[in-house]
Amino acid sequence: MSQATARILNSGVRLPPLPSIRELVKLYKLQAMKQLSQNFLMDERLTDKIVKSAGRIDPRDIVLEVGPGPGGITRSILRRQPQRLMLVEKDARFTETLQLLKECARPLDLQMDIYYEDILRFNIEQHVPDNEQRIHLIGNLPFAISTRLLINWYADVAARRGAFRRNDTCMTLTFQKEVAERICAQLGSEQRCRLSIMSQIWTEPVLKFIIPGKAFVPKPQVDVGVVKVMTLKQPKTQLPFALVERVVRHIFSMRQKYCRRGYSTLFPLEEREATTYKLFQLADVEDTLRPFELSVEECLRLAEVYAEHLLTHPEVATFDYRGPKQQQQSLN
Ligand code: SAM
Repeated sequence: MSQATARILNSGVRLPPLPSIRELVKLYKLQAMKQLSQNFLMDERLTDKIVKSAGRIDPRDIVLEVGPGPGGITRSILRRQPQRLMLVEKDARFTETLQLLKECARPLDLQMDIYYEDILRFNIEQHVPDNEQRIHLIGNLPFAISTRLLINWYADVAARRGAFRRNDTCMTLTFQKEVAERICAQLGSEQRCRLSIMSQIWTEPVLKFIIPGKAFVPKPQVDVGVVKVMTLKQPKTQLPFALVERVVRHIFSMRQKYCRRGYSTLFPLEEREATTYKLFQLADVEDTLRPFELSVEECLRLAEVYAEHLLTHPEVATFDYRGPKQQQQSLN
């Protein structure tokens, strides 16, 4: 097989001839806007590689692309011919370039819908009312919102809502390299943090490859990691997202201290020491481990015993150790 044939097979159907992304950006004077974290990817081999990382896209699947911008990744997705392509873009300056792609895609027999909306407010259930098709979320994400968006999606995974009503939704997303490494960091790794734990409770994230910053226009200060995040068929917990998030946040609030220190701040001063001691015993977790030395399962056991504690001490659920009353108590 020649290299050219291999490339066509790899990247799916051919699109009608189009000006390059670089030419379109120039033609429509689409200067990148810093406040929307715009860094465009012009290299077709890289956009194809990102989409290929998503794995098999079945002809029945839906792909939702976050922030298509001038449409580089969009072209690579179109070549893979999902049944429906949804684009969510905040910046309406891309109307002409995206409309041009829509025209080109007409012969491909797929549904392409463009929404000029904020992805953080986008209600997918409004546009995909049933859960008959698998959804792929793909995007060269705006740095400014990437972590917030991911955490919002984990909350959706836990509640089986939005794009996650089925358990086979797959996300293929870019992050700043350091963030990508933290999402995937395993036990014992230097980058292990709250985001690693939260990611690995409901999903299995894999760092697929790194894109050097110089591949983007304009060039960001950092390199970029492409992460494939697959939702787990069986989540590791049935506890509510907000409760788990609260416990994990407290544990990691004092990263260099023993894990019991951060965890103890979940409880009012008068019961703090005794309750922390008791719950670590019940959870069978060594309280002198540092937060980054805890496994996902250990964090979840600490969340479970906390949830049980709330059954008899419901007032603790809203306890804020930084609250004014508590500060007063600390001074006494
Ligand atoms: N996909 C294009 C590429 O790879 O060349 C552009 C990627 S650029 C890093 C991020 C894109 O997300 C921009 O097009 C930007 O306008 C868009 N964007 C920023 N904030 C957004 C938001 N809250 N909702 C939807 N799109 C957003």
